Amino acid sequence: MELSLVVPAYNERENLAPLLAEIDSALTGRSYEVIVVDDGSTDGTLETLKTLRQTHPQLRVIAFERNAGQTAAFAAGFRSARAPIVITLDADLQNDPADIPLLVDTLQRTGATAVAGYRATRRDTPWKRLQSRIANGVRNRLNGEVIRDTGCSLKAFRTDAARALPLFGGMHRFLPTLIKMQGGTVTEVAVGHRPRRHGATKYGMWNRVWRSLIDAFAVRWMQRRALRYRVREEY
Ligand code: UDP
Ligand code: MG
Repeated sequence: MELSLVVPAYNERENLAPLLAEIDSALTGRSYEVIVVDDGSTDGTLETLKTLRQTHPQLRVIAFERNAGQTAAFAAGFRSARAPIVITLDADLQNDPADIPLLVDTLQRTGATAVAGYRATRRDTPWKRLQSRIANGVRNRLNGEVIRDTGCSLKAFRTDAARALPLFGGMHRFLPTLIKMQGGTVTEVAVGHRPRRHGATKYGMWNRVWRSLIDAFAVRWMQRRALRYRVREEY
């Protein structure tokens, strides 16, 4: 198997069937699994997934008992991935599965540890884009980073590296920085972005700006305290 797609889904019932159809057409000829992590949905997401499994053998489901957050969903997906490359993407169809081959090809061509998509043209409200711009700027400042768009879920990782990441709540916004902290390399590529058609955003200003500011300090602490040693000799 070549690819494991990890898709966190919290109340995304109406998006799942079109998402799977788009993934299938984007990845024809490739061998892959789609791990949808139902993050404690209450809208019938799990029932929809059970039905979809009957027609999509590549679909795997991890259902949380209750909502645990996007980072927890990614962590569960990384743990369960069976392919050497994992692709993360949102369930809400805002990421375009047609971009996945570009991510995979870039990962292979550059030899990078991870490839992070950045949304060249954001299809969100001006208010949300402003929050993201502030949050990205502050994070980059605090973490000595130049990542264009850490809020874009569409990314490719070498599975071993993804599994080794130190994950805590909120860390899904810092995955490229954590990869670099572990000695890995990250390449960025422009990807598409689409408006959300079904369901609602799960984040408001508290999460996008304030909580992520606190999290940026946590990452800063980790960067400073990261263990860096080289063994000269060992017997
Ligand atoms: N999500 C999740 N658990 C949460 C919040 C969000 O699994 O507690 C999922 C959500 O269903 C979506 C993705 O994470 O697939 C991104 O969330 P959303 O689209 O609401 O974020 P936005 O695009 O508004 O930043
Ligand atoms: Mg979204």
